[in-house]
Amino acid sequence: MGLTSALRVNAVELLRAPGSSRPVEVSLPAEAIGVDDARVTGDVDIALVATSSVDGITVHGTISTPWHDRCRRCLIDVDGVAVASVDEVFQHDPRVADAVEIVGDQIDLAPIVREYVLLELPDAPLCRDECAGICPHCGTDRNETSCGCDTEARDLRWAALEGLRLDEPGE
Ligand SMILES: [Zn+2]
Ligand SMILES: [Zn+2]
Repeated sequence: MGLTSALRVNAVELLRAPGSSRPVEVSLPAEAIGVDDARVTGDVDIALVATSSVDGITVHGTISTPWHDRCRRCLIDVDGVAVASVDEVFQHDPRVADAVEIVGDQIDLAPIVREYVLLELPDAPLCRDECAGICPHCGTDRNETSCGCDTEARDLRWAALEGLRLDEPGE
């Protein structure tokens, strides 16, 4: 509990002076924010700013999470940093779509940070966009050599399946 106190912002104080802001900059172990995911390899870097208006509190910034996984096609190790752009609104009486209700004197960013981290971790990463993968017939790593197997029909079906992964980040 102690670690995540850095993620609590005094809403009363901020709202008393519309236009004032408070930085929330802290690095926390993933477990501290309730993320239990073997892909996360280090602390989650939280760099947010909470700013008040007459209407509520907006929270902007980034959350960076280092991760490790395997390429979904060729299975080599892949490392990266998932960076989420945060844009949230907190209101006492939520009117803006997707606004989070302010309950009590504080806003707690921990649930939001957890949500962004989990959303941004890649589900099925590639070592690179054009990774040729492993031949489904003979097991050759086709990034290194071409094996000559006729896998065209299979590849087309695979490509169609991949076209359905709409939730995947485009880069
Ligand atoms: Zn690969
Ligand atoms: Zn082959």
